[in-house]
Amino acid sequence: MRALVLSDIHANLEALNAVLGAVGDWDVLWNLGDLVGYGASPNEVVEAVRPISTLVVRGNHDRVCAGLTSMARFNPTARAAANWTLEKLTPDNLEWLRALPQGPLEPAMDGAEGAKVTLAHGSPLNEDQYILSMRDAWAPLQQMATDITFVGHTHVQGGFSQKDHDWHEIRPRFAGAAGSESWTLALPPGTRHLINPGSVGQPRDCDWRAAAAVFDTARCEVTYYRIPYDVPAAQARVLTAGLPERLAARLSEGR
Ligand code: ZN
Repeated sequence: MRALVLSDIHANLEALNAVLGAVGDWDVLWNLGDLVGYGASPNEVVEAVRPISTLVVRGNHDRVCAGLTSMARFNPTARAAANWTLEKLTPDNLEWLRALPQGPLEPAMDGAEGAKVTLAHGSPLNEDQYILSMRDAWAPLQQMATDITFVGHTHVQGGFSQKDHDWHEIRPRFAGAAGSESWTLALPPGTRHLINPGSVGQPRDCDWRAAAAVFDTARCEVTYYRIPYDVPAAQARVLTAGLPERLAARLSEGR
């Protein structure tokens, strides 16, 4: 079974469409949250993702943009975008976002061979926690319910692995070309893995291309993708919507 793993689309329809057009066939779609917030196409993204997602874990922006929790911890840019999003969401999409389950979740693996996995937005121990370093990864690697957990939230593609006293930070090796690239990593049994597919709609790892991953359950390997998309079109939409300029500028910087 091939599972497409998407995270942090952030209302960027151009990036989402490019990813869906480039990753080939998949059997299930696992979504790690933050579908909305920052970008200018919240309704379009929800309506595109909703019918094709097998499982969606809510993100902190989904929660705040749907009015479930306070914006107090958001910086002024994120807050402006969250207010704009809350205003623009249709009642139906708002209701759907409000009902998204909190992670961690274990997807049903009907008939699929290979390891069981967990899905979370931030850490499997805390949906709001950023796993940016091995120090952040240590406790989740010890305590997560399955050997493999997919996480998002940081907008940094890669992850962490650990077996006994042997641990590694995973950063996909790309040439940094302007076209699409992929990089495949085997996840050997008995090794614990936190895998971050990166952000579809607002990468922050200094690569502007949309990020995604495909997990092959039978081979137990993950393929990371970087996919170019029409950044100027997404930026124009952000500016036309009256969202903060920084939210447009950062898309071409990838940070
Ligand atoms: Zn996010």
